[in-house]
Amino acid sequence: MADLIIRGGTVVSAAGRQTADIAVESGRIVAFAPQLPADAEAREVDASGLLVLPGVVDVHTHTRVASDEHPDRFFQDSVAAAFGGTTTFLAFNNPGTGSEQTGSLPTDANAWRRQTDSDSAIDYGLNLVLQPAHADKLPTEIPQVVDMGVPTFKAFMVYDFGLSSAAIAVALRAAARSHGMLMVHGEDRAALEANIARLKAQGKTQPRFHAESRPPYVEAAGTRMAIDMARNEDAPLYLVHLSSQAALAEIVAGREVGGRVFVETCPHFLVLDESRYELPDADCARFIISPPLRSPADRAALWAALADGTLNVVSTDHVPDTVAEKRGWDVCFDQISNGAPGIETLLALVYSEGVQRGHITVERMVDVLSTTPARLFGMPHKGAIEVNRDADIVLFDPQERRTVTQAELHHTSDYTPYEGRAASGIVRSTIVRGEFVVRDGHFVGRRGHGQFQERTLQ
Ligand SMILES: [Zn+2]
Repeated sequence: MADLIIRGGTVVSAAGRQTADIAVESGRIVAFAPQLPADAEAREVDASGLLVLPGVVDVHTHTRVASDEHPDRFFQDSVAAAFGGTTTFLAFNNPGTGSEQTGSLPTDANAWRRQTDSDSAIDYGLNLVLQPAHADKLPTEIPQVVDMGVPTFKAFMVYDFGLSSAAIAVALRAAARSHGMLMVHGEDRAALEANIARLKAQGKTQPRFHAESRPPYVEAAGTRMAIDMARNEDAPLYLVHLSSQAALAEIVAGREVGGRVFVETCPHFLVLDESRYELPDADCARFIISPPLRSPADRAALWAALADGTLNVVSTDHVPDTVAEKRGWDVCFDQISNGAPGIETLLALVYSEGVQRGHITVERMVDVLSTTPARLFGMPHKGAIEVNRDADIVLFDPQERRTVTQAELHHTSDYTPYEGRAASGIVRSTIVRGEFVVRDGHFVGRRGHGQFQERTLQ
């Protein structure tokens, strides 16, 4: 007895595709076969001509929690994600997201859960950010929060809330011993700070010098350092937002000597390039992202690395800054908020720029957007269309064409880095645990449908 049967779509997995029907009951997939029998109780949905994809699992967002001034922003970005075909997102609680900062990891985790309780339209979870205030408590507090269903952590090598190398080593060890995993923002702090000081001394303060302060070798050095530290602690490592050929070479070398390294890249590195930094200051500032946008050759290398398995995941690094918050016209480049919005455009860009242009297959897209992130981040009931998994399903029309434009997006930012870009394929409907959240292009979900994901790494 099913509640919902989705008929006749092309169902895609990481391993292949087939025309099949899917039966859903109580939020789970209960049957999956080429021709399911009729069920008088079930609502039927015709998916013929559509791709039926597992919902996207976006493990890298800086979604902001509700505040007095912006009570709807967390909810609104969850709605935007649903419009883009994302059914689960993980957020960081770094400063700037409005998350309470208490100096204690269990207290931070509880505070964030309270701040986001019943606020999301889609499923969601937390990656805890490790900061200097946590440093001396990491060996005891990391196991505590792993037991609370938060087994993934982020350490920054740079920024004022970044960790020292010594603290990162302690965090790697504590996470590995308690079945957790550290995500690292890998950039070499010493080289970066030297570059910033030199550029400032030369009067080079405009936004475009952001990229000059963070050349690929700064990322490659940070990447190598993180891999070496993880090997030294016999710890798994997840490197976020890889952007360059130089850093890719460090991944390959680190794995050859036995490093357990998982690597993510982001749509902006796959789609855009450093020519954006030639724009006038205020426009240029919209593309201030760390690491910065790279060369077309780097971009091509990332697609190749995604196709051959060197890169494991594509996630957004969504930062819902507004144009006004970027302040590209009146502050030095190192004071501009790093990041750009992207929570709604992930699937559209990877399908259009990756699958349509022949860089990757649609099966590989499903792997890097859904199956692998769900597996690596401890959500075995998500990431694939299989019996007993959650019915997190996207109905995607590959024939439609659209132009990405801010006016049609739902996120809390007021711009998109992809303004005016033609894209093939649109999300028709997004289903989270058997419930339509977006149906035929309209939001039909509800605030609070999303469940916090208590995760356990395998
Ligand atoms: Zn990030």
